[in-house]
Amino acid sequence: MINKLRRYIILLLLGLYLFAPHILAADKVLDASQLNQTPVVLTEYFAVLEDPSQTLTLDEVQLPDMANRFRASQTSAAALNYGYTHSAYWLRLNLRNASKYPLQMILEIGIARLESIQFHHPVANGTYRTLTTGSAAPFRSRPYKNRFFVFPVTLPAHADQVYYLRFQSKSPIIIPARLWNPLAFHAYERNDYIGQAWYFGMVTAMILFNLLLFIALRDVIYLLYVNLVTCTAFSLASQNGLTKEFLWHNSPLWSITSTVTGYSLTVAALLAFMRYMLNTEKIIPKIDRLLKVLVVFFLFFPVVFVISYQGFVKLAVLLYGIMLILVIIIGLYCAFKRQRSAYFFVAAYVIFCFSGVIGIMAALGILPTNILTINAWQFGSALEMLLLAFALADRFNVIRQEKEKAQREAFTAQQLLVENLKSSEHMLETRVAERTAELQILNRKLETLSATDGLTGIANRRHFDATLESEWHRAKRQGQPLALAMLDVDWFKKYNDHYGHQAGDECLSHVAGILAANVCRNGDLVARYGGEEFVFIAPGTDDVTALNMARKICVALQSQALPHEISEFKAVTASIGVATIVPKEGLAADILLKAADKALYSAKEQGRNQAVLHCWSTSLPSL
Ligand code: GH3
Ligand code: MG
Ligand code: MG
Repeated sequence: MINKLRRYIILLLLGLYLFAPHILAADKVLDASQLNQTPVVLTEYFAVLEDPSQTLTLDEVQLPDMANRFRASQTSAAALNYGYTHSAYWLRLNLRNASKYPLQMILEIGIARLESIQFHHPVANGTYRTLTTGSAAPFRSRPYKNRFFVFPVTLPAHADQVYYLRFQSKSPIIIPARLWNPLAFHAYERNDYIGQAWYFGMVTAMILFNLLLFIALRDVIYLLYVNLVTCTAFSLASQNGLTKEFLWHNSPLWSITSTVTGYSLTVAALLAFMRYMLNTEKIIPKIDRLLKVLVVFFLFFPVVFVISYQGFVKLAVLLYGIMLILVIIIGLYCAFKRQRSAYFFVAAYVIFCFSGVIGIMAALGILPTNILTINAWQFGSALEMLLLAFALADRFNVIRQEKEKAQREAFTAQQLLVENLKSSEHMLETRVAERTAELQILNRKLETLSATDGLTGIANRRHFDATLESEWHRAKRQGQPLALAMLDVDWFKKYNDHYGHQAGDECLSHVAGILAANVCRNGDLVARYGGEEFVFIAPGTDDVTALNMARKICVALQSQALPHEISEFKAVTASIGVATIVPKEGLAADILLKAADKALYSAKEQGRNQAVLHCWSTSLPSL
């Protein structure tokens, strides 16, 4: 019984092998009627045939001999990955519709960069229709408008159908294929495009905002930031198939080279931004020179892709990898050197690289594909953009603080200078004031000296002359009398002869003292007129008062009883001539002096030791 069954099974399998060579035991059949909201990853359902010659046709791969060479994909990952290869790859997929209704499905190849894709789907009578598209083909060749490759599939009721896909590409052949329920796919697709729009909206805002900052602040760093963001966004848009969808639909060259060109420009932009932000020119001058060369190099490097994409793409990937490592080393070194901006830079860069690794792993099927992993680059790039923008704000803040500090220091220094100037000015003023005071004292001393008689200490002749002149005029203005008396020591020649010249000097000082003591009203002046002759002026004094003053002096002198042996009075005496006048127009002070002198002469005549008042009756005016 068991043997019989075994024989039947063998016969059945043989029959299947002979009459339906396209349905092989190796192929795993997917019952599409079981599809729900979650897509089915197709990797494990594919049978794969490598075509190194790139020449096999659909008819040829269907021939039993070739059909047998299809192998199970032998992976449960989310994507098939054949890397850079010169081979074409054929995939065979068995779909079953166990239900009694025709089924609509969506086959999605979730990658933008596959140069050539052929989708062969069965139509009636076992024939196939072929759809040829790919990243090198015009966008309109796609049966469904999407940044990735999407094929609507219709499966009739109660049917098993075999589909063939052919892939060929100079970029790595990575095939993340999924089968979707159309409604679920549309929901997913909407979210996917919302995510893209969110990212590129943010990029646009950042670019515009930082351009405005550049215009306002004139700091090149904002321009370099704009450049970096633009290049990164361009690379991602190109890598994600968005440039193909929205910018250049048809150019095959651009379709193939735009992503690597974007990478190259992004590396150049990143190096330029890093140079400026981390101030490598000062921190690592030698490496900075190399960075400058590298910036120029990566700026022009895309030219090689025009010459030969396939010839240079591996070298390019290697160079980009080296640059990624170089940038992190420089970032870490600058952070180690306590360069504040380097902390932000390294953090932003590490996030971006990390998200890049997640993105690559998702693309290779190592990580499950979902909105987060498939758009990891975008999330990473957005975070990087924000962190770098924050770093720029921090940099601005640091510069502002440094500026304020410098301003404060300058202000303090200025204040110190002003205070120093003020204090030295004050010192100078004090010194000048001191000197002026000293000079004034000296001047006063000089003045006094020049107006003082050296022997007796009373006013001298010069002072007397000046005073007489001014008092004369004042008296004339006020219509007041002015009195003048002239005193001459009696027998003084004999005194000198008898007591000696020195004693004579002392005697003169004595007489001056007595004179000064008796003529002491405010405005009066006592002066030595010359030799042993003295004068006094008494403004506003009439003749009687003046005469009395003179008499009082005579008495005072005599009462001092300074011995004068030779004199008949036996004491030093003096004769005084007094004259008073109310000055009038046409008269000079001289007249008063002459009058006093005359009166003095009369006093001498009349026996000395007396005062005589000049009488104007004969010569001049009446008082
Ligand atoms: P008389 O009573 O007529 O005035 O007699 P007299 O001797 O005073 O005569 P006279 O006026 O001619 O003499 C003045 C003398 O005064 C002459 C001079 O020796 C003396 N004499 C003038 N100036 C000074 C002085 O500065 N010091 C001394 N010691 N003697 C002086
Ligand atoms: Mg005399
Ligand atoms: Mg005399």
